[in-house]
Amino acid sequence: MIYRDHTEACPRCAVDLVDAGSVRACTNCQGMWLAADVLTEMVATMQPEPRWVELDFEPDPRAPLACPTCVKPMATWSLLGVPIDRCDDHGIWFDHDELEQVLRTSAEPAAPIDVPQPEPADEPTTRRRREAAAFAVGIRRRVIDRQQDMTHVGSATRDPMPRPDEPE
Ligand SMILES: [Zn+2]
Ligand SMILES: [Zn+2]
Repeated sequence: MIYRDHTEACPRCAVDLVDAGSVRACTNCQGMWLAADVLTEMVATMQPEPRWVELDFEPDPRAPLACPTCVKPMATWSLLGVPIDRCDDHGIWFDHDELEQVLRTSAEPAAPIDVPQPEPADEPTTRRRREAAAFAVGIRRRVIDRQQDMTHVGSATRDPMPRPDEPE
């Protein structure tokens, strides 16, 4: 829970954070303070088909920042290669540009993110693949049909007549 009635200060500059949409920001260093579920929502929205993505927080030992809300030292993590500070109770701190960096990385398929495997029937790429396969099968059938027609024509007329519209 974030104590919205409580003044929160930037852990780097100590100036008061201001509301900036779904996040609170430092007007001095452009750091951003947001709740974990807000980050989850942002990452989901970055995907081609909005979906929940499990973020891979890796321990990243370094000097911690104080939580803007409870002032306790935050846990230090690396998230998609970006160093972040996180208070389990109150939120995640991103320095200038780091939130954008995480969101951009999360949108790339090659990013080291642990994507939960949904049921094949619900997976859009599987559906697309199935439709592509059905499309290809249709083309293949037409090719086979034409080959059979040509075989039939070839056996019926051993010396096919030149087409009238073709030059000799
Ligand atoms: Zn600041
Ligand atoms: Zn806290």
